[in-house]
Amino acid sequence: MTDPHLPVAAAFVDGRSVPPRDTLPVLDPSTGQPCARVSRCGPADVDRAVAAARTAFETTWRDTTAADRAAACRAVARTLREHRGELAALECLDTGKPLRQAYADADVAARYFEFYAGTVEALYGQTLLGHADLLAYTLQEPHGVCGHIIPWNYPMQLTARTVAPALAAGNTCVLKPAEDAPLTPVRIAELVAEAGVPAGVLNVVPGLGAEAGAALAGHPGVDHLAFTGSRATGQTVMTAAARSVVPLALELGGKSPHLVFADHDPEAAVPCIVASITEHAGQNCSAGSRVLVHHSVHERLTAAIAAAFTDLRVGPGAGDPDLGPLISARQLGTVLGHIGRGRKSARLVTGGGVPAGVPAGGFYVEPTLFDDVPPDADIAQQEVFGPVLCVTPFGEPAEAVALANATAYGLSAGVWTRDVGLAHAVARELRVSQVFVNTYSAAGGVELPFGGCRQSGFGREKGFAALLEYTRVKAVAIHIDGALHRGTVPPADR
Ligand code: NAD
Repeated sequence: MTDPHLPVAAAFVDGRSVPPRDTLPVLDPSTGQPCARVSRCGPADVDRAVAAARTAFETTWRDTTAADRAAACRAVARTLREHRGELAALECLDTGKPLRQAYADADVAARYFEFYAGTVEALYGQTLLGHADLLAYTLQEPHGVCGHIIPWNYPMQLTARTVAPALAAGNTCVLKPAEDAPLTPVRIAELVAEAGVPAGVLNVVPGLGAEAGAALAGHPGVDHLAFTGSRATGQTVMTAAARSVVPLALELGGKSPHLVFADHDPEAAVPCIVASITEHAGQNCSAGSRVLVHHSVHERLTAAIAAAFTDLRVGPGAGDPDLGPLISARQLGTVLGHIGRGRKSARLVTGGGVPAGVPAGGFYVEPTLFDDVPPDADIAQQEVFGPVLCVTPFGEPAEAVALANATAYGLSAGVWTRDVGLAHAVARELRVSQVFVNTYSAAGGVELPFGGCRQSGFGREKGFAALLEYTRVKAVAIHIDGALHRGTVPPADR
């Protein structure tokens, strides 16, 4: 039974916390024990949140200047930074991620608001030339009320990533966090209000996907939807968006490759490759989950990754290990299922089980390395969303590119070579939205446009591109023919 004395994260609507009618338990993934409760919002709560966002848009926010909103975003960033320790501790508790990662996430959340404070004032329309008697220009207008649905892996970063550009561009927001990790999104909404952002501009409605999520996705009062999560749920949200005919950004999963060419020192690439699949225990949409390596350096690279994996410390997030737990028992079962199937098709080099010495009840899995993975194996094709890395050797560069493009996904890729011509040629051929050369997931990344190709989705978050995502273009054309000849301009000698 859920302890009634646990803290409750309540929905935040129209500038205040809403006492919950019903709650859901929130588990600490490091122990499997309940650590909080959260409001279980339903369609009526979502109605109220959308109505509050509509009123705030029509009566306040849409009439603010870009400078006003930039100042508001700066105030939010300051407030988030002042609460950095509290936010990091909450994120660590809720997601199980290592504490230093949670601190980094708090910093990135603040950084999103700073970045969009700076960029929104440079969001200009265009003047269109072409007709002597026509003055034509474009306006970048906000959509209105934006609905945001996010997953559990980076709740703090993803809240800021999706909400900061939307608010900066003049929209108001209703956000549905994941049921497994709702605590920091609720707290951020409170802090945004504390920073002076008017009531109703940011509303958060926690709850189940099939209840609060579906109600938001299908709400007729929403003008734009941004969904981050699994491909299957993304398809459901896309169906809802199609019914309402609203624009949609879909940020889905990935199976991102590293391509390690013969001229690169394989050991030098290892720290980055290992970090890209073990950060937050591999529960990262742009995790580097495949390594495609030239056969001449294959053995050296695999041995170095295996050695690095064996050295990693797995444990509760609060102890700041290298890897924390997975988010839930369900996710642990999913990852172990993938590993079980992987054992049948590829060579298990290290890991594959539950580590020793971790708290009973937590959802831990060892960092796991498979070698000689056939490109069509399930483990090479499906997103695992855990610390599971697949190595596949190649011969020619064209083969590496073909293997990299041979999954349904297209999110990120890492290219490891000292040959600048090869790097450019490979970058051009990869069907992904971000290519890193001799690095991966470049620090912060707030400035880099991010999004999917193919089954990884569409639309762009991050960077200036997100301001365009959260605005629509209006063209205005004014006929100016004849003004000079109708005597409306006084002659120069009067
Ligand atoms: P999920 O699709 O199960 O859930 C995501 C969100 O959708 C949650 O808030 C959930 O409550 C909600 N939801 C569930 N059913 C819904 C419905 N019928 N209508 C509306 N909303 C509903 O995903 P998850 O398991 O929480 O997250 C993992 C997935 O997210 C992975 O595939 C990962 O790659 C992806 N992801 C992508 C990015 C990116 O930017 N591309 C970032 C993080 C995670």
